[in-house]
Amino acid sequence: MTEKKRNVLVLSMGGTMGMRPLEGGTLAPDAVLADLFHWVPELRNLAGVNVEVLQDIDSSQMLPEHWVQLARRVEEAQNEHLWDGIVVLHGTDTMAYTASALSFLLPALTLPVVFTGGQRPLAVTRTDARGNLIGAVESALDGPVEVMIYFNNYALRGNRATKVAISDFEGFGSPNFPPLGHAGIDWDWNRDIAWPIARRPSIWQGLPESLPTPPLVLPWVPGLEVHNLIQALSKQWSIILEAFGTGNMPIPGELRDCLKEFIESGGLVFIKSQVNRGSVALGAYAPGMAIRELGIRGGRDMTREAMVTKLMVLKALGLTNDKIRSMMVRSLAGELTEAH
Ligand code: ASP
Repeated sequence: MTEKKRNVLVLSMGGTMGMRPLEGGTLAPDAVLADLFHWVPELRNLAGVNVEVLQDIDSSQMLPEHWVQLARRVEEAQNEHLWDGIVVLHGTDTMAYTASALSFLLPALTLPVVFTGGQRPLAVTRTDARGNLIGAVESALDGPVEVMIYFNNYALRGNRATKVAISDFEGFGSPNFPPLGHAGIDWDWNRDIAWPIARRPSIWQGLPESLPTPPLVLPWVPGLEVHNLIQALSKQWSIILEAFGTGNMPIPGELRDCLKEFIESGGLVFIKSQVNRGSVALGAYAPGMAIRELGIRGGRDMTREAMVTKLMVLKALGLTNDKIRSMMVRSLAGELTEAH
């Protein structure tokens, strides 16, 4: 009996993988991804692969509109019942933002969605993009039903991943969560840590039409002029302050009053740590405690990408600020480690 051929939909958003050097060496998109089988003919041995080019851009140019466009196509594809998994080709610069956004936009996913790309273009000889593409297709066929990033032999949970290297092939890390899978001689999937289907929220009545502007993200530096922050606050609906260590930063009286007023008039404030590994714990030191006393929450061990996109999706769903605050410290798609 012959085994039924399985099918993977490849959605291309662009990135280095599909670029070629212009004269002078600068890389620019060059329709490479529309002709994927020319570059990686062996893809056909793995699965029935269909390629759709949704965008062909450097991912630094990616906007929240593009996240919604991609989420819409993934949702449609799930309902087509033709595919066993989906691969998204994407530039590495903002891949973790788009992957995180998708994990929150599509909480009730039914297929693996695997992002990948390359640190070098597919069209150059010593490329990492070919291996990444093959591993991503394999992950889409056999991996857990999650939004993942496959890069340099590792399948990471998308909303736990962050770009960690500009010039190494190991482009992504997952500072607070182990890899879901590793491709060595054989594949090794850690299925016990996959995000349980039973824990997926059912609050979404469909994809939001659009997303709000991102929150302002501000890393505190020693000696930063408080007025800069006070001035910036007046134009925001939300701010994520990146504090030190467990979530400490100075909150002089003037800033405290301003944050209080901002929150009372409907603004949302969250604390992230500038340190990527570990979790915010506002009660650990007195400066963090002073922040907590204002009703401000920490983002636990979420990446910046997860925190920003989660907040945008929760806002787009029209939830109250109280609800948003409580959901920001709960895991919706495996993006954070909850307090016990
Ligand atoms: N600038 C490129 C992009 O993000 C980098 C890459 O793909 O590796 O589109």
